[in-house]
Order: sequence, then structure tokens, then C-alpha cells
Amino acid sequence: MFSGTTMMVPLRPCNGVSQYLSKSPMVHTKRQTTPRNVCMKAQTQAVPSRTQRIMESISVGGEVGGAGGAYSYSALKRLDKTWSSICSAQTVQQEPQQVVSDFPGVFSRSALAEKAVHKFDVIVCGGTLGIFIATALSAKGLKVSVVERNLLKGREQEWNISRKELMELVEAGILNENDIEDATVVSFNPNRCGFEKKGEIWVEDILNLGVLPVKLIEIVKKRFLALGGVIFEGCSVSGISIYDDAAVLQLAEGNILSSRLIIDAMGNFSPVVKQIRGGRKPDGVCLVVGSCARGFEDNSTSDVIYSSSSVKKVGNAEVQYFWEAFPAGSGPLDRTTYMFTYVNPQPDSPKLEELLENYWDLMPEYQGVSIDNLEILRVIYGIFPTYCESPLPAAFNRVLQVGDASGIQSPVSFGGFGSLTRHLGRLSNEQGFMKQSMEIFLTHTACPC
Ligand SMILES: Cc1cc2nc3c(=O)[nH]c(=O)nc-3n(C[C@H](O)[C@H](O)[C@H](O)COP(=O)(O)OP(=O)(O)OC[C@H]3O[C@@H](n4cnc5c(N)ncnc54)[C@H](O)[C@@H]3O)c2cc1C
Repeated sequence: MFSGTTMMVPLRPCNGVSQYLSKSPMVHTKRQTTPRNVCMKAQTQAVPSRTQRIMESISVGGEVGGAGGAYSYSALKRLDKTWSSICSAQTVQQEPQQVVSDFPGVFSRSALAEKAVHKFDVIVCGGTLGIFIATALSAKGLKVSVVERNLLKGREQEWNISRKELMELVEAGILNENDIEDATVVSFNPNRCGFEKKGEIWVEDILNLGVLPVKLIEIVKKRFLALGGVIFEGCSVSGISIYDDAAVLQLAEGNILSSRLIIDAMGNFSPVVKQIRGGRKPDGVCLVVGSCARGFEDNSTSDVIYSSSSVKKVGNAEVQYFWEAFPAGSGPLDRTTYMFTYVNPQPDSPKLEELLENYWDLMPEYQGVSIDNLEILRVIYGIFPTYCESPLPAAFNRVLQVGDASGIQSPVSFGGFGSLTRHLGRLSNEQGFMKQSMEIFLTHTACPC
């Protein structure tokens, strides 16, 4: 029943959405006595970093579950802690929890069968990109549900994408062209790829649209519900049991859902992927930090990728910085700039906060602005673990990976959403891989519905 520090109280399904309402947990505090040596304490307290001061001066909305959906300083510290544990681990991180288990025999004769409260053709775990594939499958007449541990909501920070990739959503029957127009909040041309002293190339119509995930996902969610889809929000996947005739999902909140196929769209840190990869340390990691800020007078073009420096030392590690920059949809002077680098995860690899400290010095120089003239609207950060063995081959009967969990995202452009749209046709069309998998499961198993 607990998610982080909030308690989830189950509500009845409403409009196809089963929700869990957040309630503050009871807090017991010990009576504090004022320390006599207050001045001494103040002197020894760590001075907040520039990153902390900047981030704590911005009011950020609620966090969402998908990659890059948290903007607070405390969420940055949490991600840095995860990153440090990846760096300090041996080749294999601690033994991952077993989430998926095989059970010989048929589900209908198992003890669990009586407890399954809902039955579906497909259950999609994770609702950021998961809602897109869920809608594509619902549109094909399948009974589909989505399980999302947070609210099923897109982030405020735009995704960059090319029109051709967006149109794949229309071709898959998930959106119409008006939806695309509604969710596209900015477009820009031309777009540069450049390396200092090596020259630059300017291109048109490549990653030149900004779509607003919060709008796009809202539209897709409505479509999914209208098609009869069911959403379990505030529900966390805790176990998957594979039988000869069914894949059964246990939620941390206690419900049991049965299906013929489970799609894992739980992102880079999916517990199922952790189990498949045996807790193996990533072969490489792309670290990204950046901000969306107001005050850029020169704001019509973009950098798809730009590097203005060679390898430099950060702490004990050597890194090369790359940049992305593009206009944001929130206002004509608003611009997003990302600084990213590729590292082997080692104990001396730089932390995200260290990269941000460098970013505040280097970004104004790169963009030809003064930081004093900028209003920082949002600070953004993320880590993209990558493995040589990608895309990830399917490891269990009846469980498939989609989105970042599948290892198909591009760490060069962070294009996880773009990657999904590029593969959506192949995944959901008549001859496609998802369709073939569905046919195998649907024709060879009795319907549990
Ligand atoms: C800084 C940054 C910039 C980016 N820019 C772009 C861009 O411009 N263009 C682009 O195409 N892509 C971009 N991306 C990548 C894009 O955000 C991701 O590829 C995309 O969010 C991946 O979606 P996903 O659903 O596969 O995984 P995630 O976004 O990680 O979502 C996984 C979902 O699963 C849920 N979940 C996790 N565990 C559980 C559980 N146990 N039970 C239930 N639910 C669970 C999470 O709450 C979450 O909603 C960027 C990413 C970052 C970090």
C-alpha cells in the first residue's frame, strides 16, 4: 500500500480507471530541544551547491513516472544515489529480485485462478509509452489494461521528434492529424550537427518539432478509455507468474490480473529487465543534464548535436561534453539546452550534480548569453544505461519488452519516444511481431476472459 512516503488508498474503478488516492502518512516527531551550539553547527553545515540553490528557488509541479519526469533537487539526489550504486557495483550488481516465475501447468487449475479479479488479452505494465501500444492493440479489438505505479500522465518537458515519426501514430490508428497539431507546441528549422574545428552540417525537418507529453498522453489516454481499455493507476507490478495458458500479474496492492500476454513498458529500470539482465552492470551510460530557461533572444534554430570541446577532466574522470539546444513551446524566448556525455560506470564517474555545476558555467558560453539574464524554468536530468546486447531478446514466454525497457531507444538523441514511433508499425501491423505473438497466444490458448 505504500509508494515512497505516500499511502495509496484504493478507490472503486471510475470511467475505466482504478485509482489509488494519495494520503499523507501519520508522522511521529520527537520533541526537539534547541541545541546550545547553534552558531557552531551553522558554520559546519555544507554550503548548498549552485545547483541546489537554483533548483530550490524554482517551484516545480508534481512529478510523473516517465524518464525525465522529475525536476526537484531531492529527485536529483535520489537519481545520483542510484547512479552511484551502479558505478560502485562489481560487474554484476546485487542479485536482482525475481519478478517473473514459470509455473508448469494451466492457470485455470491453479490455486491462484480463483483470486484473479480481472482478465485481459494483454496487460501493459508502465503507462508512459505503454499507453501508445495499449491503444494500438485496443484499436485492433483486444481487451487491454495498463498498470501504472504513478498517475498516468506525461511530463511537462517536450519531446523532440520529426513529423515523419509522429505520423506513424496516425498510421497506427492511435491519433488523428488534429491530435498531432494539438500536441505539437513548437517547430523550428534549420537544425545543426557540428563539431568544433571539424565543421558543421545544417539539416531541415530533423527532430524539429516539440511535442508536449502531458498533452499527447492525455489525448491517447482518453482514446484508450473510449476503446474500452482499463487503467490501474497508482498500482505497482510486484510479480508475474507464467503458466501454459496465461500470464498472471500480481500488484503490490494485492490485486491479481490474468492475461495472455504481458508487455513490459517499465522503462530503463524495469524490474523485469533487471532480472533478464541478471543485475549486470550497463556497458555504458549516457548522462544528461540541462534546463529550460527564458531569455534567449536568438531562438529560431536548433542543435541536434554539437560539441565545442575535446575531452576534459571532471574530478578524476575524463569526459567529452556534447550539447543539444532547441526552442521550447512555452514562450518565444524559452529554450531548452542539454549537456550530455558518455561514460563507463566506474566509482570515479561524475555525478549528475557535478555535471550541472559545470553546465551553469558552460551553457551561457555555448549559447552566447549571460546566466544573469536568464530565468530558469526547469532543471532536467537523466541517465540512459546501455548494453551491448540490445535490443533485448525476449526471455520469458508471454512477456515482451517495449519502449526503453526493450533497449531500442537512441542514447544519441535520447529518442525513446521517437524510437517507439519508428517501430510501432512493425510492432502492431497485420504481419508485425506483436500481431504474430498475439496470434500464437490467442490461437493456442483458451480465452481466460
Ligand atoms: C532528459 C531527457 C530528455 C529526453 N528527450 C527526448 C526527446 O526529445 N525525444 C524523445 O523521443 N525522447 C526523449 N527522451 C526519452 C524519453 O523520455 C523516454 O524514451 C521515454 O520516456 C521512455 O518511455 P518508457 O515508457 O519506455 O519508459 P519510462 O519513461 O521510464 O516510463 C516507464 C513507466 O513505467 C512505470 N513503472 C516503473 N516501474 C513500475 C512498476 N513496478 N509498476 C508499474 N509501473 C511502473 C513508471 O512510473 C513510468 O511511467 C528523453 C529522456 C530524458 C531523460
